[in-house]
Amino acid sequence: MEIKITKTTAPRQKPADPTKLGFGTVFTDHLFTMDYDAGQGWHDPEIVPLQNLSIHPGAAVFHYGAEVFEGLKAYRTDDGSVQLFRPADNMQRMRDSAERIQLPDFDADFMLNAVLKLVELDQDWVPNVPSASLYIRPFEICTDIDLGLHGIQHAKMLIILSPVGSYYPGGLKPVDILIEDNDVRAVRGGTGYAKCGGNYAAANRAAHKAEQKGYSQVLWLDGVHRKYIEEVGGMNVMFKINGKVVTPELTGSVLPGVTRRSCIQLLRDKGLEVEERLISVDELMDTLRSGALEEAWGCGTAAVISPIGSFAYQDQVLTVNEQKIGPCAQELYDTLTGIQWGRIEDPYHWIVKVPKKS
Ligand SMILES: *Cc1c(COP(=O)(O)O)cnc(C)c1O
Repeated sequence: MEIKITKTTAPRQKPADPTKLGFGTVFTDHLFTMDYDAGQGWHDPEIVPLQNLSIHPGAAVFHYGAEVFEGLKAYRTDDGSVQLFRPADNMQRMRDSAERIQLPDFDADFMLNAVLKLVELDQDWVPNVPSASLYIRPFEICTDIDLGLHGIQHAKMLIILSPVGSYYPGGLKPVDILIEDNDVRAVRGGTGYAKCGGNYAAANRAAHKAEQKGYSQVLWLDGVHRKYIEEVGGMNVMFKINGKVVTPELTGSVLPGVTRRSCIQLLRDKGLEVEERLISVDELMDTLRSGALEEAWGCGTAAVISPIGSFAYQDQVLTVNEQKIGPCAQELYDTLTGIQWGRIEDPYHWIVKVPKKS
């Protein structure tokens, strides 16, 4: 399938001060769309000027959360070129997410090519200030006009792009975490491993409550035993305990992060032992009290590494590493951002270059 490209005749104003970009409120000039109809498959892939969609109010996406998405970034290197980090992993994960909620499958290579084409066209929007990047948001929605939802017949695939600022305008800083013991984000057998809008809807109440109390993220416990640690906000979580790194295993209710996978590889290649296993909140509190917990951090595409400064559970608040960034989190941050922004060599072939504008 050839992607038809219609360029905008009215390029939009780029942000005046790229050092002041927030997250996800400014969008670039173009949009990728492609339609699916049962019997016909995917058809009419197009890049068009950014515009509103016209969708029937009876479409299933508005009623039943029939939506999956991805999030990755394009980075500008010192020599002015633009590159992506492990984008094929995101496309494969989106197929897995789509399968979970029975949205139509698609060709991962084709979608990676669509991402590259769109970023190539809008590459002038990739910020050239430190730690800023272009956030790429592919998503798939069900457009069946059917409040009965009987097997998905129609769908739409889209990609939008948004220049985003540094997650840490004031530099890497440890965050305070509230351990949530009432709401759960996901359950085994549910959609926790899929990147879908519904998981975020389920997380909203606890996240909002934590924010109001002055915490930056919620630590999620598993939905069955209400005991095992799963994730921190929209990030995976890692702990350094007595010299080893421990991270929750992928039980089905944990999102398999690309950053998580990359951290595990970097840590093991450095000679550190990494355990993917169940870790209970009681074990975490014990390691905090005994001093065995050396470091804790969240990891995900948006923040890369987010050091954790304290955990609040029921009526206790315990601090980690005197609220300072630990050496392991700092090194992971430096290595990952170094590879992503092209400042250090990429021995893993994680980087995919975006062609220069033709
Ligand atoms: C996207 C996401 C992550 C992190 O995944 P990355 O691929 O590293 O960006 C972790 N948890 C949740 C719930 C997510 O949605």
